[in-house]
Amino acid sequence: MRLERSQADLEFRQKVRAFFETQYPQDVIDRNRRGVLPTRDDHVRGQSALNAVGWLAPGWPKEHGGAGFDPVQRFIFEQEYERAGALPLQPMGIIYVAPVIYTFGTAAQKAMWLPDILESRAFWAQGYSEPEAGSDLASLRTSAVRDGENFIVNGEKIWTSMAQWADWIFCLVRTSTEGRKQEGISFICFPMNLPGITVQPIISIDGSHHLNRVVLDNVKVPSEYLIGEEGAGWHYANVLLARERLSYAHLGEKKDLLAQIIQRAAAIPLGEGRMLGSDSSFRAHVARCSIAIAALEHGVLGELAEPDASGVKVSMLKIAATQLAQDLTELFRLAAGEFGHVYVDRTVDDWAQRLPTIPAWAPVATANYLFARAQTIYGGATEIQKNIMAKRLIRA
Ligand SMILES: Cc1cc2nc3c(=O)[nH]c(=O)nc-3n(C[C@H](O)[C@H](O)[C@H](O)COP(=O)(O)OP(=O)(O)OC[C@H]3O[C@@H](n4cnc5c(N)ncnc54)[C@H](O)[C@@H]3O)c2cc1C
Repeated sequence: MRLERSQADLEFRQKVRAFFETQYPQDVIDRNRRGVLPTRDDHVRGQSALNAVGWLAPGWPKEHGGAGFDPVQRFIFEQEYERAGALPLQPMGIIYVAPVIYTFGTAAQKAMWLPDILESRAFWAQGYSEPEAGSDLASLRTSAVRDGENFIVNGEKIWTSMAQWADWIFCLVRTSTEGRKQEGISFICFPMNLPGITVQPIISIDGSHHLNRVVLDNVKVPSEYLIGEEGAGWHYANVLLARERLSYAHLGEKKDLLAQIIQRAAAIPLGEGRMLGSDSSFRAHVARCSIAIAALEHGVLGELAEPDASGVKVSMLKIAATQLAQDLTELFRLAAGEFGHVYVDRTVDDWAQRLPTIPAWAPVATANYLFARAQTIYGGATEIQKNIMAKRLIRA
């Protein structure tokens, strides 16, 4: 594993930094830094700027339009991306479904879907979870029954992130009830504007609209949208989940957050002339987070350079990254103190000006703290990752 940075790596870092300072839309960065919730158009503009230089899909092979970074470059790129305050990618298309399409899809499916993902013409949603099938995903009941050239899909998906923006959805559906429950699952994609699809918003505890319930009522899906073999969806889904889990590291964001916390705390009075930044328990919490960031960085870089075929390390890193995100956002919320106890509507550009007596970062700190609670649930809950690790290690 190469941990040291070469001159070429340092030059690459400068190049990426310069891109975010000059070619990425600065108004999008500015609003993101001010805690304004982004619009779909903000995402399209940010992603289009990245695509214009061939950097939208760092993980894809070059032949499909990927950036062609080596593991260290990818690592540097992702850190600079988050450090710049650019909007996170909409992951469902670029990070989650695209690898399944280019690995298992037909030539026609690749041609139909991949260019639209790269050009941000199509946003995607992930339809895995159901009301009775979350951790135990193989129990899913949404059915897809063959009817000539189509499948008729019926059921309900839940916690479907950003389905309100999605043009397409990829779903796990049950095409057979015979044999092991994993064997009757297929992987199918379809447009969100087909008749019979209803998207119902679920507002989360931070006040944002991120989640949805998607009801599928006799949706007629052409069979050409089935990926790979009927009944092999469980295998494809697992390929996807492994990639999804490593995408939670967000090291640049974590470092940026810790730097902001330290900076804010230096000016937060505790009384008798003392500042939060000099409080010993606060400093110990900062030190713990700082060490955890360094350890996570080492682990992620190692996994990128030499992937662990057992998948144990990915589960371990998912737990470490998501718990650290919770620790950091908790530290920030503590710094916000009583100013954090306000709900604000951050869809409006001037939300902060409407609250002149409250530091603008404080309500954002609380909202991030609240939403970060979900990190140890989605993409496979912490307890499930521990089960995976235990099973694979004990079997080994
Ligand atoms: C913000 C957010 C975004 C999401 N986005 C999407 C999305 O876009 N698409 C999608 O398909 N899904 C999405 N999900 C759903 C997510 O994948 C599920 O919430 C997750 O898999 C857990 O399932 P569940 O909510 O049904 O909880 P359950 O499976 O009911 O789990 C409840 C608790 O029991 C524990 N538990 C369950 N089984 C075991 C076990 N065998 N051993 C030990 N402990 C166990 C869990 O760890 C958890 O703490 C999202 C969830 C959230 C919170």
